[in-house]
Amino acid sequence: MTAQPALDHASASPRDARSVLSSVFGLSGFRGAQEKIVRHVTDGGNCLVLMPTGGGKSLCYQLPSLLRDGCGIVVSPLIALMRDQVAGLTEAGVNATVLNSTLSYQEASEVERRLLAGDLDLLYVAPERLLTPRCLNLLGQAQIALFAIDEAHCVSQWGHDFRPEYIGLSALAERFPKVPRIALTATADALTRKEIAERLSLADAPEFVASFDRPNIRYEIVDKQNATTQLKNFIKERHAGDAGVVYCLSRAKVEDVAASLSEAGIPALPYHAGLDASVRARHQDRFLNEDGIVIVATIAFGMGIDKPDVRFVAHLDLPKSIEAYYQETGRAGRDGKPSAAWMAYGLSDIVQQRRMIDESTGSDAFKRVSIGKLDALVALAETVHCRRQRLLGYFGETRTDESCGNCDNCLTPPRVRDGKVLAQKLLSCVYRTGQRFGAMHLIDVLVGRLTERVKQFNHDQLSVFGIGRELNEKQWRAVLRQLVAMGHLRADSDAFGALKLTDSARGVLKGETAVMLREQPEGARNRAVRSKSRRGELAPAADSPGGIASPALHAALRAWRSEVARQRGVPAYVVLHDSTIDGIAAMRPDTLDELRNIAGIGDKKLEHYGDELIRIVKSNDG
Ligand code: ADP
Ligand code: ZN
Repeated sequence: MTAQPALDHASASPRDARSVLSSVFGLSGFRGAQEKIVRHVTDGGNCLVLMPTGGGKSLCYQLPSLLRDGCGIVVSPLIALMRDQVAGLTEAGVNATVLNSTLSYQEASEVERRLLAGDLDLLYVAPERLLTPRCLNLLGQAQIALFAIDEAHCVSQWGHDFRPEYIGLSALAERFPKVPRIALTATADALTRKEIAERLSLADAPEFVASFDRPNIRYEIVDKQNATTQLKNFIKERHAGDAGVVYCLSRAKVEDVAASLSEAGIPALPYHAGLDASVRARHQDRFLNEDGIVIVATIAFGMGIDKPDVRFVAHLDLPKSIEAYYQETGRAGRDGKPSAAWMAYGLSDIVQQRRMIDESTGSDAFKRVSIGKLDALVALAETVHCRRQRLLGYFGETRTDESCGNCDNCLTPPRVRDGKVLAQKLLSCVYRTGQRFGAMHLIDVLVGRLTERVKQFNHDQLSVFGIGRELNEKQWRAVLRQLVAMGHLRADSDAFGALKLTDSARGVLKGETAVMLREQPEGARNRAVRSKSRRGELAPAADSPGGIASPALHAALRAWRSEVARQRGVPAYVVLHDSTIDGIAAMRPDTLDELRNIAGIGDKKLEHYGDELIRIVKSNDG
């Protein structure tokens, strides 16, 4: 059977779209605005699509490309991502391929021939390639269904992923005015949106904006004690055998953490810009292709990683902004299944990030903006309210529900108490010691510890010496951090992290400003969340069938998938997504018809794998 999905576009009714959705992609319905977008583009309209990672952007251009005459041209900056998408589409029986610098001259000529012969449904092209005179000429002779500009925020000069090649894409509107353009991005802010619309001549085109909520991601931020040990426990107790990404700030720490996880029997690989390109490529490939690899990385890793079954993203260091935190954690759970965003954070993180900003070569205005962004993230880390609400609120999205039910603060609401007296003790201690000391010394003075340093500065003679014995060191650290987050204290990077009073500290010292503090009982916080967080107890996402039905069958299906993926040289998820494996294990289909009803099984997969899958189900009827 050859895929013949290119229907007559003039008659493309929603039902045609639905039948292709089912036969090619094996999906029973659209998500959110997908249907409207597909209809709009299929009818020849331009648009801008803003959807979070995992929201289902690809369908928005893949389906119209199949429904319209001609070939859909997808512009993407990421070669790895193109390759994976093409592998997935080919599996589903779609005539898709790439045109980029990895092809030989012969291979490229063959692609060109197929395009002109009308033999392609989708062609992925790197922007610099697309804009060559040769390629523009070629496109001029071919029938083009649409232009999809993926990662469209790359046109934004102010964004963090700016790609100069993207600027040239404005030529598409002039050169191919009749071909619809659909720009897609997961970057939400208004400024970027405006820039995309201007540069790609989409000013009059509708914007489709989806919610940026990622309901399947559980947010959790814990107090940093021994971060590596905490991470090991987190993985062993909640994510054993799962694929995950661990972010650290420095290359040295990446290496240390990867080694330490490996020693503990967790398959972990380092990734940072200091590694040889071939080593990086090998580690990335293993992460993509094998089951359950943990990659420990600097932020050099992640852009363009399209792996749908990343079950957790862990931060051992504080990112620099909420945008960065959202983008990095967003790499978890693209497939919609329960996933975790876990971060260990402490006072030293704030000090470190402040120092990086102060020591950067940026202008004063840039530094001010950076400090504001850092403060917003620290406030998210310290909030006693719903983290999801705070996160979405930052992107201008308000939610009406009080609690999301899927962040640590909603699951185990922290106890809050009046912290006025504690705050006054701490701030007085900062003041009396001359605003020249960091957290460790301040706490020594508060709890009355006679260290060398205390003696050296005669701080045991001060009235504040030993006035804070009611809390232990860890609890004082938590108070300190919260006062920094509230803005009553500031870490001074010029003076090696010395803590200084801010203007607002005066109100606290005078008793005019209320201070509510989160209680930090010994260890209780981590434990409480953990007990509720066993896998499978999470609310299943809409299109996931919930807990693991039959472990033996599940394992057999996964083993079969690994073998097929290995033989075909594609990532396991290209063969079948986790959610499809789960669906089969839960439904135990006896017949091909039953199998066909499971999400992710389209006609091609049924044809290729159907009999084999039924056989595996039958031989595992435990
Ligand atoms: P994005 O590009 O927005 O990050 P993708 O297009 O890669 O997201 O889609 C993310 C996941 O959601 C994929 O696993 C895809 O199969 C799945 N998906 C997309 N649309 C639907 C749908 N209508 N029903 C079920 N699953 C969907
Ligand atoms: Zn919440």
